Amino acid sequence: MVIDEGYIKYECVWQKAPPPDIKYLKEINYWRKKLFDKKLIGVYKDSEIAYGNISIRHPENPRQFIITGTQTGALNKLEPQHFSVVTSYDINKNKIHCLGLIKSSSEALTHAMIYELEDGEYNSVIHVHHYKMWEQLKNKVPTTSDKIAYGTKDMGFEIKRLYNIGNLKTEKILIMGGHEEGIITFGNTLEESGDILLHYLSKVYVK
Ligand SMILES: [Zn+2]
Repeated sequence: MVIDEGYIKYECVWQKAPPPDIKYLKEINYWRKKLFDKKLIGVYKDSEIAYGNISIRHPENPRQFIITGTQTGALNKLEPQHFSVVTSYDINKNKIHCLGLIKSSSEALTHAMIYELEDGEYNSVIHVHHYKMWEQLKNKVPTTSDKIAYGTKDMGFEIKRLYNIGNLKTEKILIMGGHEEGIITFGNTLEESGDILLHYLSKVYVK
């Protein structure tokens, strides 16, 4: 991964606060369990780095979103304290503000870019890792440039570019070319994002 001098590091301004209401988390947990069981969300054994995150637009504050917290991928079941609310973000400055008992996932800015599309048409984003799926779908469905690292403002702009020029609008799946194994799906509902992901997963040859 090439990081040049001008690279702006992701900045997460975190304010400790009560976690989001459990009533908003049930559907996320339902989908997260499905994806965790398929190892689309989890942790790399060697490095102990967690991967995969889910977010939904905040039902009460449409300018905000609820996202799984940083480094929670290893956990079988998430409790409210494992969720964070992104209250504002600045894609140009690569900066987010979040509330909760945990910082939001470092990929929150990529989620934010999806929520910005179409004046807020989409209400959920899923980001998972799956090598075979990534490898087989790369450049067959909308794919971000290999040169762009995840969690950067450039990733945000790349998503917007792909959305405007191609079939990202209809397919709602994105392969992150420069983020090995990284896949994003999104939709009007979490169910739609999850169904799109499982649909593509079912087509992947895994043997
Ligand atoms: Zn990732």
